Amino acid sequence: MDLIALPAFDDNYFWLLHDGQQALVVDPGDAAPVRAALDRLGLQLASILVTHHHGDHTGGVAELRTATGARVFGPARERIPQPFTPLTGGDEALALGVRFRVIDVPGHTAGHIAYFADAVNGAPLLFCGDTLFSGGCGRIFEGTPAQMLASLDALAALPPDTRVCCAHEYTLGNLRFARAVEPGNAALADYLRHCEALRANGMPTLPSSIGTERAINPFLRSREPAVTQAVRAHAPSATGEVAVFAALREWKNEFR
Ligand code: ZN
Ligand code: FE
Repeated sequence: MDLIALPAFDDNYFWLLHDGQQALVVDPGDAAPVRAALDRLGLQLASILVTHHHGDHTGGVAELRTATGARVFGPARERIPQPFTPLTGGDEALALGVRFRVIDVPGHTAGHIAYFADAVNGAPLLFCGDTLFSGGCGRIFEGTPAQMLASLDALAALPPDTRVCCAHEYTLGNLRFARAVEPGNAALADYLRHCEALRANGMPTLPSSIGTERAINPFLRSREPAVTQAVRAHAPSATGEVAVFAALREWKNEFR
């Protein structure tokens, strides 16, 4: 199986997984780059996996379904282009012969889901949309901070070697914020240098891994004493783990 990040818009990735003949694509916000990749690689699109309803993740679904007959899977609690197979946490989606387990990850949107497979080419694979980014997390538009924290906890509990396929290339901006939060984190400093070199060569910083994110992502580390203290220095009224997490997210929203 080959895993490819198709760049789209300013900073989206549409993840394409294929076996040389059939493909699945995740969150195709635009049909054109997907159709171009299918043509170039001689692939037939079998499945479309959607994580949440935002247009930059769903805008190409109807055209791709019409053009290819692909089966669409998506979040049961959200409005996405019909028809689709509705999924909620604990459900399974079988695509390209891979069994994906669905995880509910509300927060960015109310019904956001993620797709996890135990072993694709020998390692676990996660498609997490706009919930977990490398070095960051999605903005909390529809859910609550408590929901987003629980969603990130569920993803952080996946195996450390899980490849994390996020829907946006936000890594460098996220890591500059992470460094402001946790200036003493040596793993973070190393990872920032590594990602800067990748971007300087025009390469994606993704997929990341759960192990890496646990070491460097402040939104998976809000209970670490260094992170909690930095948040409290910034927002002294934040007490309790949800309030600290919420204050961390607010701090990122205003960070330049
Ligand atoms: Zn989104
Ligand atoms: Fe998005």
